[in-house]
Amino acid sequence: MSEPRAERPVIPKQPECNIGTSGHVDSGKTSIVQAITGVWASAHSEELRRGITIKVGYADAAFYKCQYTPVPGAYSTSPTCPVCGKPTDLLRAVSFVDAPGHESLMTNMLAGAFLMDGALLVIASNEPVPRPQTREHLQALQMLGMKKIVVVQNKIDLVTDEEARKNYEAIQNFVAKTVAGDAPIIPISAQQRINIDALIEAIEEVIPTPKRDPAASALMYVVRSFDVNKPGIDISQLTGGVLGGSLVRGEMEVGDDVEILPGIADDRGKFAPVTTRVTSLGTGAGITRKVRPGGLVAVGTELDPAGTKGDQMVGSVVGKPGALPPVWEHITLELQLFDSAVGSAEMVKVERVRAGESLRLNLGTASTLASVTSARDSVAEMDLKKPVSVEEGARASVSRRIAERWRLIGSGVLK
Ligand code: GDP
Ligand code: MG
Repeated sequence: MSEPRAERPVIPKQPECNIGTSGHVDSGKTSIVQAITGVWASAHSEELRRGITIKVGYADAAFYKCQYTPVPGAYSTSPTCPVCGKPTDLLRAVSFVDAPGHESLMTNMLAGAFLMDGALLVIASNEPVPRPQTREHLQALQMLGMKKIVVVQNKIDLVTDEEARKNYEAIQNFVAKTVAGDAPIIPISAQQRINIDALIEAIEEVIPTPKRDPAASALMYVVRSFDVNKPGIDISQLTGGVLGGSLVRGEMEVGDDVEILPGIADDRGKFAPVTTRVTSLGTGAGITRKVRPGGLVAVGTELDPAGTKGDQMVGSVVGKPGALPPVWEHITLELQLFDSAVGSAEMVKVERVRAGESLRLNLGTASTLASVTSARDSVAEMDLKKPVSVEEGARASVSRRIAERWRLIGSGVLK
């Protein structure tokens, strides 16, 4: 299923910015990440079998610019210019957070979206505009306040010039009154690698690296977790559990003591904080001693790898002991609901939240079920099935089960 790979580029330094993908399943999100980074980000065996992205995937790229070649040809991921062969200048390294587009995986998309500094909204040029998840993802980006968006019109190799022009106009109309109204629309073919240079140029212009405070205490949100040991390994050679995610502030160094919240659950499902030591750090640029905010990092720990296996730690926060956000089991949300849930062909009117119903919340990179204990006007109180560590004032994405699927129905601010 995966296409022939571009040569996997060397990443010269830690990625400093996360660029997310969004858009309907099969629009070509993972293919675009591959066309830019050379890496097929869906490496999970079930993903390869089913041909769809399930987990949040990631892959890194370094962007370079040639001072002799005219734009957009000047932009590439190579230290030598693919057009003129002269050495190029390094602009920066970035991480791509590849979100699932399948309708049943909206909560995974939202976990990835929390870490995005900017987003690609991918639309296939050979399909009607918009498809339901394209609409739902754009609504999610808007809700999360994501303004740095590049719209990608993919698969132009499959349509005539005339069809491409009509599709381009349909995309313009679709995004016109949304948060992507001013976003550039870049026609490309991920598969034929057409216009990838123009896409890099647009990313450089629209998605700058945000300013961050390295002096603040370290705070990382976990979006993947792994047991990197091979099955059957000798117990004396076990390495500890590995956490993947992004720092939003501060720095982390090998040897640091870190706290993890809400921590690890005991046999009865009760979570308790854990502290551990950072034993290794990795970024797209390789093994390192210190990591900064932005881009995706892997943190090796002394945790029992059985506890990090299979993404069990997704949604946790990691950082300086005593300096992490509070852990919530009961919350009050100030709700802002949409008029309609847009993730299916039939748009469904959003009814108000009622006491006794179950909702799904995304807070930070965490996803949990919540049962509503009281609801009046726009304020609802809820019990969380799984505790979540997040700052007061954070925005939760709220989904409701409609016709057998979790649909995004709005958001709420944590009071
Ligand atoms: P995702 O679900 O949005 O991540 O989409 P994928 O990247 O998995 O691509 C879905 C299918 O479309 C795969 O079979 C790709 O090979 C194909 N595809 C992706 N980009 C292009 C393109 O630019 N042109 C053509 N012809 N096929 C493409
Ligand atoms: Mg994909």
